[in-house]
Amino acid sequence: MSLNIVVCVKQVANPDYFSEITLDPETGAIQREKVPSVLNPVDENAIEEALRLREKYSGKVTAISMGPPQAKEVLDWALTLGADEAILLCDRAFAAGDTLATAYVLAAGIKAICPVDIIFCGNEAVDGATQQVGPQIAELLGYPHISNVSELIVNEDKTAVATRIIEYGHLKMEAKLPVLVSVSREINQPRTATAEGIFSLMDKVFRTWSLNDVTVDEKNIGLTGSPTRVGKVYEQKNERQRLILKGAPEEMVNTTIEKLRQEGLI
Ligand code: FAD
Repeated sequence: MSLNIVVCVKQVANPDYFSEITLDPETGAIQREKVPSVLNPVDENAIEEALRLREKYSGKVTAISMGPPQAKEVLDWALTLGADEAILLCDRAFAAGDTLATAYVLAAGIKAICPVDIIFCGNEAVDGATQQVGPQIAELLGYPHISNVSELIVNEDKTAVATRIIEYGHLKMEAKLPVLVSVSREINQPRTATAEGIFSLMDKVFRTWSLNDVTVDEKNIGLTGSPTRVGKVYEQKNERQRLILKGAPEEMVNTTIEKLRQEGLI
């Protein structure tokens, strides 16, 4: 059995530097110039699962991303790890899209390489964190979708049996391929890049597709195609006072009562 596998990967701000992201007080625009970008962490697990399936059967793994030109970095990483091909959907017309407009462009890119057997997504991007893009791509393509998957078995008869993490345990689900699977971090331990992988980059197929390379209705892309709008972006200020008491317990209790009285709280 040969599988045509697609992995959706997103470039995000490095979570280790989230505290350095600030907002322009005037415009509310996010200022993240000094923050390095990385591959969305759980997307590494999505790549790993795709590679393991290709190794078990055979076929092709294509990594796809929608983003600015610098998103090529995460696609190069996917190729280094072992993906066969990469596609960057990059056009000013795609920018400023909400999750639906993003999913629409990704679905259009995937359609262009159909028939596809399995699409992998991460469960959630660490920055936007809506968990919407995977299910929306599946809906747009008319595929079944299984989310939060911690174990996946694909059988010779082209059925997928997935274990999902749910609130109080696990849920087993079965779907016929083609299917979209959103993975959780528990699904596997991603491999690290090898020197061979880094050298192989030069021989891999990398494509950048713009508006003219995909079949889309321009009404559904970018800001125009986004049914949601950002109402307001603001920094939450913590204005609570902090008081650290020291001393014997009885002394601290008395001080607490005194402070609460002073504030008119008791
Ligand atoms: P999730 O749904 O949490 O991601 C789940 C998985 O989907 C990921 O693990 C990955 O596998 C896949 N995935 C998600 N996004 C991508 C992608 N781009 N490529 C490939 N795979 C992906 N963001 C901007 O960067 N610039 C903007 O100008 C902008 N404007 C916006 C305007 C509005 C009105 C709104 C509501 C949002 C805007 N965003 C913008 C945010 C952008 O829509 C989201 O970052 C994007 O849709 C992904 O959503 P998420 O981060 O919640 O991903």
